[in-house]
Amino acid sequence: MAHADIEKKTGESFDRVTVYRTLQSFVEKGIIHLIPTRDNSIKYALCKNDCEAGHHHDNHVHFICDECNKTICLDDVTVPQVKLPKGFTPQHAEMVVNGICEECK
Ligand SMILES: [Zn+2]
Ligand SMILES: [Zn+2]
Ligand SMILES: [Zn+2]
Repeated sequence: MAHADIEKKTGESFDRVTVYRTLQSFVEKGIIHLIPTRDNSIKYALCKNDCEAGHHHDNHVHFICDECNKTICLDDVTVPQVKLPKGFTPQHAEMVVNGICEECK
């Protein structure tokens, strides 16, 4: 879902800030996570793994289809660990694969 869709669904009674804050609290509670998109708009997907408040376990790869521009959660594909130089501590890693999705094949 994109911000615009949520605004459409929730109607005009919600202002942008309220919607943003609500979504932000869902992210913090481990209910949804941010997904990367081609046009840099903010989109969210529901967490399928057992995400906890303040800690997400779903470090899966996201796939962006070149045909339909959809972002798909590849829940079973985990982001590979990268070796960082000495002194660097990883907090979060994201991986996006572009290509053609199942439906557009
Ligand atoms: Zn999560
Ligand atoms: Zn597609
Ligand atoms: Zn995802």
